Amino acid sequence: MEKIVSLCKRKGFIFQSSGIYGGINGCWDFGPLGVELKRNLKNDWWYNFVQTRDDMVGLDASIITHPQVWVASGHVENFHDMLVDCKDCRKRFRQDHLETERCPECGGELTEPKAFNSMLRTRLGVSDDSSVETYLRPETCQSIFVDFKEVYSSTRVRIPFGIAQIGKSFRNEVNPRNFIFRSREFEQMEIEFFCRLEEEDAWFERWQADIWKWYLDLGIKESGLRWYEHPKESLAHYSKRTVDVEYEFPFGWGELQGLANRGTFDLTAHGTHSGKDLSFFDAEKNERFVPTVIEPSAGADRTTLAVLCDAYDEEEVAGETRVVMRFVPKLAPIKAAILPLVKKDGLAEIAEELEKKLRRKFNTYYDQAGAIGRRYRRQDEIGTPYCVCVDFETKENGTVTVRDRDTMEQTRVPMDELADYIGTRVSFERD
Ligand code: ATP
Repeated sequence: MEKIVSLCKRKGFIFQSSGIYGGINGCWDFGPLGVELKRNLKNDWWYNFVQTRDDMVGLDASIITHPQVWVASGHVENFHDMLVDCKDCRKRFRQDHLETERCPECGGELTEPKAFNSMLRTRLGVSDDSSVETYLRPETCQSIFVDFKEVYSSTRVRIPFGIAQIGKSFRNEVNPRNFIFRSREFEQMEIEFFCRLEEEDAWFERWQADIWKWYLDLGIKESGLRWYEHPKESLAHYSKRTVDVEYEFPFGWGELQGLANRGTFDLTAHGTHSGKDLSFFDAEKNERFVPTVIEPSAGADRTTLAVLCDAYDEEEVAGETRVVMRFVPKLAPIKAAILPLVKKDGLAEIAEELEKKLRRKFNTYYDQAGAIGRRYRRQDEIGTPYCVCVDFETKENGTVTVRDRDTMEQTRVPMDELADYIGTRVSFERD
């Protein structure tokens, strides 16, 4: 894990937030390469689960909502972690994360558990007496329920259909840890899929299959993935059934995504608290009902971490260690590096012009500094799938070499076919 954290910092994927002030616990900044990687992942998710499906629509709701949302959802009452303090070293832990009844750090005696609500509070309004206390959302899904009626009455969607949202969520985690796995500010990619009660099991199974396939399409090895079924007695207050997709991180198995059958809990609760009717009217069958909800709920940061861990590879090449990030091309932050073999004899000018043309199609990088082998290695380390070398033959016949990151094989491609040659290989579009 240290190797991945260090590469992320060194190469500009992920930094500690507010680093010059000593950092702030549980918050992370995505640097120039990290922002591209995470954005590719979110775009792929949206493309796969929203754009290319005819039963899904999107939403981007506000992070700060009416405080009643969190009363109705049960968060004010139930979103608690049970905390214990060590009487010796004073460290604080979540009781459900402990394996023994003693302090995991120093073996000291622990206090009785106390409940702590993990929602982040904030105040809205300019003066102390007129401002209202509310929360930064701890999950993106509640606004989907709150806006359910607005969405279905402003569009032509009919049940079964889903509403998807990607956005920030905030939780005052007691022990943020394992790099970006558990942070206090993170991004979720959530779907609330509304169906009829009699179809709930069929939709649950279809979502299980669709989610699994998405992780495999991200290039994650199947042996590093597994399902975890929550036992009935430990289900959350809203859930009829929950399964998690877990990934084997270097620090152990951890949840990437939950899939829950939330039944009619949320629409009923918001209907009751708001006094508005959140049922659905099926005009064809002349029938009114509260739909059942199947919820695939994924974390963008945890999935990015899984992709980083899974892509990391070291191999021996000609007596040296080659570090390669084997991202699937659609996720790679930079798709192609354009490298003149040497700066002189006009090669740099041809390469620069080529790079300017290609950057309109996908992310590129121009590098003329140092020996060509070293430049290839720099790109391997950040996972660039293709390196394009402009050499002396380019001047003669307009072709360049394209080096494949994984096989290190080189192919000659005419310059005017390059945008298509690379473009089709790095796109997340599928037929
Ligand atoms: P955990 O048990 O690990 O605290 P959870 O079951 O509370 O997670 P959910 O409420 O199901 O998590 O949230 C859905 C997804 O949001 C999780 O699968 C995870 O990917 C992401 N997520 C939740 N909490 C965090 C966090 N503190 N940091 C990063 N991602 C998170």
